[in-house]
Amino acid sequence: MLRPALLAASRSARLRAFVTGFPVARRVSRRFVAGETLDEALSAAKRLNDEGLLASLDHLGESVSTAAEAEDACDAYLLALDSIREQGLTANISVKLTQLGLDSDTALCESLTRRLALRALKSRTSVTIDMEDSVHTERTLELYRRLRAVHRNLGTVIQSYLYRSEEDLRGLIALGAGVRLCKGAYNEPASVAYPDKGDVDRSYMRLTEMLFSEDALKKGAYPCIATHDERMILGALRIVQSRKIDPRKFEFQMLYGIRQDLQRKLAEQGYQVRVYTPYGPHWYPYFMRRLAERPANLWFFLRSAAR
Ligand SMILES: Cc1cc2nc3c(=O)[nH]c(=O)nc-3n(C[C@H](O)[C@H](O)[C@H](O)COP(=O)(O)OP(=O)(O)OC[C@H]3O[C@@H](n4cnc5c(N)ncnc54)[C@H](O)[C@@H]3O)c2cc1C
Repeated sequence: MLRPALLAASRSARLRAFVTGFPVARRVSRRFVAGETLDEALSAAKRLNDEGLLASLDHLGESVSTAAEAEDACDAYLLALDSIREQGLTANISVKLTQLGLDSDTALCESLTRRLALRALKSRTSVTIDMEDSVHTERTLELYRRLRAVHRNLGTVIQSYLYRSEEDLRGLIALGAGVRLCKGAYNEPASVAYPDKGDVDRSYMRLTEMLFSEDALKKGAYPCIATHDERMILGALRIVQSRKIDPRKFEFQMLYGIRQDLQRKLAEQGYQVRVYTPYGPHWYPYFMRRLAERPANLWFFLRSAAR
């Protein structure tokens, strides 16, 4: 019951104003968000690199409604990409297409994404296009396929809770794409997504198998196993160890502030681990999705607020 309520709250402008005006919320959000400025995000990425971890910088924001907002988001990412190059960080960026105007101006969104891909190339890195709610899945993949024909340093995301994902993944494998596989973080109806967590997990393992198939790797697909679920991670490890897959041919990904023990353990074992590192003033929806994933996070927040 809590998950849908918190996910619905993540879209409420009134609650956003209330929660973000609350100093304790800002403090608790710091568990999942590197900071409100680029400098704080770069320092976090540097700390991660020093521990042998890779980073993916996410300038928080989504669903912009004007061209100026989309261009501002793009500028923030261009600055991040330049800083990655200047500071010699091992980091890429993750972007949401609605932050670049997908809902209001697809042509602008496409041209801004192209700019990011080109700048990322100059910084010798890549751009991952995050996946948002199912209303945007088709448009995101459509734009991704068009851009990927030219920009090879673009990757995207598949969510194992969606029924359509097996078909979508087949298409991405045919392109030899970089694919981040996650379970999915949005509130989706049973008409498009498995309502049962067991089904989501089984789908995750089926998709992991597909991503690590001989055919996928031969085509150049780059699997990014994005989860904190040890059963999913062990499943992936069983596949890569039994097939002796080179650890440089894939990576694990986790979120900033979550299961740091597991992040370090995998890195110590010689696997690439990338930490999704969000930053910026628009942290509210991201923070609410993290609360929705684990009731203990909500109780921690409420206890801190009460204190
Ligand atoms: C790198 C990365 C990028 C992502 N990108 C996207 C995206 O583009 N689109 C999208 O829809 N979703 C994205 N997600 C979120 C994802 O879909 C899940 O909502 C999230 O990862 C939780 O699922 P899980 O796989 O960790 O498994 P779960 O079964 O939810 O959790 C397994 C275990 O992980 C730990 N855990 C999980 N979440 C939390 C939390 N919030 N706080 C503390 N512990 C936690 C707990 O120990 C839990 O028992 C991304 C996740 C990662 C790791």
